[in-house]
Amino acid sequence: MVQIDATAGSSQDGKARLATVWLGGCSGCHMSFLDLDERLIELADKVNIVYSPIVDTKTFPENVDATLVEGAVCNSEHLYLAKQIRDRSRIVVSFGDCAVNGNITAMRNPLGKLEPVLQRAYIENTTYQPQIPNDYSVIPKLLERVQPLHEVIKVDAFLPGCPPSADLIYFVVTELLAGRIPDLSDKLKFG
Ligand code: SF4
Repeated sequence: MVQIDATAGSSQDGKARLATVWLGGCSGCHMSFLDLDERLIELADKVNIVYSPIVDTKTFPENVDATLVEGAVCNSEHLYLAKQIRDRSRIVVSFGDCAVNGNITAMRNPLGKLEPVLQRAYIENTTYQPQIPNDYSVIPKLLERVQPLHEVIKVDAFLPGCPPSADLIYFVVTELLAGRIPDLSDKLKFG
């Protein structure tokens, strides 16, 4: 089993190094993370958030203890970042249904190809200068198919939900900090 050594903490101050990443999702999973409310203060005693939409870090750092990844893999930038995350994180968690199974983000997949998606978004639904973007030095190129995170990199734990509740996020993070891969088998409800 993969172990996180976050009880010892990898930062010089003894805290664990935690990252959260926003790929192809609506940021609702991060909103749920913020719903930890006062528990964020408790976590701040135990972790340094070294990369996240809620901190101003531009590049994904080395030597991260655990990374929560929100969203599916939709474009070339997501693909690059996902591989970098895997290389630099001891534990990677699929954070929310878009990361776990594609969810809303993958609703374009049944169309089969990318072309009808681009046509619809940039030509049919546009009244001012309709054109399909093609300068991929400026914007990342969409992948032909949206993929859940585990199809692209190895994932150590899955945290489903749209979004996962703050209580579930808290459980997962505290389990990781205790050096355990969280077992959610008795905490999830379907239907
Ligand atoms: Fe948004 Fe739900 Fe996807 Fe999270 S799982 S990014 S809340 S659509």
